[in-house]
Parts: sequence; C-alpha cells; structure tokens
Amino acid sequence: MTDTPTTTAPATTATLAANTPRRFYRGGERILAFRGLDVPADFDGYRPEDWVGSTAHLFAEGGGGVTTLDTGVPLPDALRSDPHGWLGAAHVARFGEEPHLLTKLLDSGERLPVHSHPSREFAAAHLDCDHGKTEAWIVLVAEPGATVWVGFRDELSPEALADLVDAQDERLLAALNPIEVSVGDAVLVPAGQPHAIGEGVLILELQEPTDFSVMLEHERFGLELDHAFLGLDRALALRSVDHGPVTAERLASLRRRWADVEGHGPALPDEASAFFSAEVVRPVTGDVTVPAAYAAVVVVDGSGTLTSRHGTREVRAGDVLLVPHAAGDVTVSGDVTLIRCLPPTA
Ligand SMILES: [Zn+2]
Repeated sequence: MTDTPTTTAPATTATLAANTPRRFYRGGERILAFRGLDVPADFDGYRPEDWVGSTAHLFAEGGGGVTTLDTGVPLPDALRSDPHGWLGAAHVARFGEEPHLLTKLLDSGERLPVHSHPSREFAAAHLDCDHGKTEAWIVLVAEPGATVWVGFRDELSPEALADLVDAQDERLLAALNPIEVSVGDAVLVPAGQPHAIGEGVLILELQEPTDFSVMLEHERFGLELDHAFLGLDRALALRSVDHGPVTAERLASLRRRWADVEGHGPALPDEASAFFSAEVVRPVTGDVTVPAAYAAVVVVDGSGTLTSRHGTREVRAGDVLLVPHAAGDVTVSGDVTLIRCLPPTA
C-alpha cells in the first residue's frame, strides 16, 4: 500500500469500499448483502449501483461516481501519479492514462427503463467523446424468473421507433427480446442495442467508461428530456439506436455461461474483447496463476488467497479489489471463484 497519498501504485491490491451514488431507480440491498455490509440506518433505497474502479462521472444526477481509494486519493489522480505501475507500459502506450473500463455491481430493485447507449462512432461525432458504451452483464444473483431484455425482435422503421418512444407505454418493452436469466449467465449488450434489466438481479457489469444513455422510456421514471436524450435533439439521439432485428441466433451469440468455467477462462463472448474482457478464476484442480494486469477483481464465491511477488492476502466472497499491473503475476488458491475485469487488450 502507499505511504502517502501521491506515491506509486500499491504493490499488491487495493480493497475498494462501496461507491454507490444516488440514482433515479431503486435498488442496492443486494449489493450490501453481497459485500457483507449492514443496511445503513439512512439507506434511501436508491443506491442500485456500486461503481468499481471508476474514473467516470454520472451524466446527470449530481455528477458523482469517481472511485476514491482508501488512501483518500481519487483514482484518476492515483493513475496519473503512476500510470505505468497501475496500468502497465503496454496499456499506457496504447491507451494513455485511462483504464478504458468501468465496472459496476448493479442491483435492480425495480425494472430499469428501456434504454440504449451510443456507439464509439456516434459518441465521437455528437458527444465529443472517444468512448461509446458497449456493456456486459455477469449475473451473480437472480430471483426465480428474473428477466432481462436485449434488442428489438423485429426490424422497426425510424418512424415506428419514434412512435413507440412517443407513446411511453408497455409496447416498447414488449418489442424487445426477453431473456430469462439465472446465476452463472453472462450477456453482452453491444452499443446501440436497446435493453432493460428486470427486477431482482445482481449483476457485475463491465462497460466502456461513460454514462451516456438514451432513455427510450423516461416518463415513468420522471427523467427530464434533456437527460433522456443526452442533451441532443430527439431525432438525432434516436439515430444511435439499433432498429433490429436481433434474431435468436444473434442473441445466442451474445450469451455465455460463466459458471461453466473451471480453472481460468473467459466469462464473456469473444466479441467483447474489443471493449473489455472478464475472466473467471476458479482453481478447482490446482492453483491458477494469471499474468500481471490492471484489473478490477470481484470475489463471487468461497474464500482463498491471492499471492503476488509482494505477499499473500486472503480474500472471500464479496471482496472487491483493484489490482495494479505492478503487483505482477498473481496466483489464486483455495475454494474460491473470482472474476477479473480487464481493459481492452493493448
Ligand atoms: Zn445499459
């Protein structure tokens, strides 16, 4: 760990406290339960997201979201003070001093609105940003029958999409592909695809590091139109939305069972790797050693140890860690399952 707030990356790992900005939709109790935390007396029920290793800000709703390390240093400052130690030379050479990854825990205490996120190309052209927002969901907890929705089943004309958005009724959700999910599922959501998350799931979410969302459904959540359409003209904002169709075959290609991995393997479809990757580490037949990398690590089951060149630390389910590249190769031992969330490959 660092001795002073401005020195180098920690030699092993930083434990991250919960970072749960207030949002417009309900949730958060499953995050507290997962992390082994009590529900605070002043819990307001609107803390559905825990932003992990975040250098990104909320687009609206107060602009919070950036991670502060336990040294009191905001993560962006820590990265700037030692980019090579945190991110590794190859990452810095390719991407600069930004992780290019936002990781969250998300607990849906109610169904989220139907929304979509712009692509890199759209964000570069209209939002003055190099990142769009492809995202992926790794299901950690799911109530029976829990459902998510991805992509329009049938192709919609621009006029039909605009009509659905005008109506602000249940037809918008009904036009999407429903996917019943259980613990162990993973779903990739390419930028542009409209989607929603039903009530009763805790997911580990990987995203490009922006908070750009086009809120196709906004009225019932009380969102201002400026917020809903990213400050853009509505017709322009809707041009960022994929009109479908997302076929059953395409849908299957976006899914994977992360719980099937034994040893060490990918949690997400290969298509995700242009944006980020997630790896399951479960040392069932012997220790697993993973190469040095900047990673947000979420321990999802059991307990064990992480050993790097600087020592050994114990971990258990609910721990959320940020591992700097400078920690070197890390060996995972024990009856433990963890998921490493990684930036795009340099
Ligand atoms: Zn989303």
